[in-house]
Amino acid sequence: MAPRRSLSPSSASTWRQCPARWRYRYVENLPDPPGHEAVIGSFVHRVLEALLGEEPGKRSTDRAREFATRFWPDYVDDPDVRRLDLDEVGLLGHKRRIWAAVTGLWQLEDPTTIDVRATEHRLRTELDGVPFTGVVDRLDATEDGLVVTDYKSGKAPTHANTPDKLDQVFLYAAAVERTLGETPVRVQLHYLGDRTIDAVVEAAATDAAVARLRTVWDEIEHAQQTDEFTASTGPLCGWCPYVERCDAGLEEVRRIHARGRLRADAPAMKYVA
Ligand code: SF4
Repeated sequence: MAPRRSLSPSSASTWRQCPARWRYRYVENLPDPPGHEAVIGSFVHRVLEALLGEEPGKRSTDRAREFATRFWPDYVDDPDVRRLDLDEVGLLGHKRRIWAAVTGLWQLEDPTTIDVRATEHRLRTELDGVPFTGVVDRLDATEDGLVVTDYKSGKAPTHANTPDKLDQVFLYAAAVERTLGETPVRVQLHYLGDRTIDAVVEAAATDAAVARLRTVWDEIEHAQQTDEFTASTGPLCGWCPYVERCDAGLEEVRRIHARGRLRADAPAMKYVA
């Protein structure tokens, strides 16, 4: 088995959710086509990247609408969007959610006041011996120093889940420090149209996030040597693209369905009918 060459926050998160799912995705390289949330999120990112690339004074909702209108035909033709088989009503629903997320930025900040240092900034470095990759949505320059920003188009998590969510941006902060030689002062998750979760960058927090990344990396290396990838079942099996191949997952979705707990929009619904 070819060893994994790098780890991103998203692949680490897949590992934590279910090592068997990680194996299907990153060892067998089986497709994991994006769902509704992912395609909507990508489009929102594209519009905001274009908007924040403008001169500060031009970053208006009208300008955002111009970008959204210009990019919309690409969205409708995107194979990932076409795969979702949306009718007119479905596409209109996507359009409304995209616009709500884009304009949701103004509920969180005034984009004309942001000194953008970079958007969609690619990172590739080593963190505690782990080859790390990631993409920072936005890196801002402030009077106090750099700020790492990540956009989210879903709802903000409950407070209990917040530390997990911040791991991603703390890892970006550590990688920015290594690659640019400048330690960010703050990280923030913009849940567009909802709220911002932010934190001051302190060595203890970034070190802890890097240590958790290292633990995942060690677990993956061990699993690759032993070819043991545990199937970790749960409600997300209903949305796993590999459930058809996974006996434990199929059993789980049938159990959830029998209890009347499988959501009607779960893709795995077709395996319990
Ligand atoms: S169906 Fe569930 S247990 Fe199986 S790989 Fe997917 S997430 Fe893991």
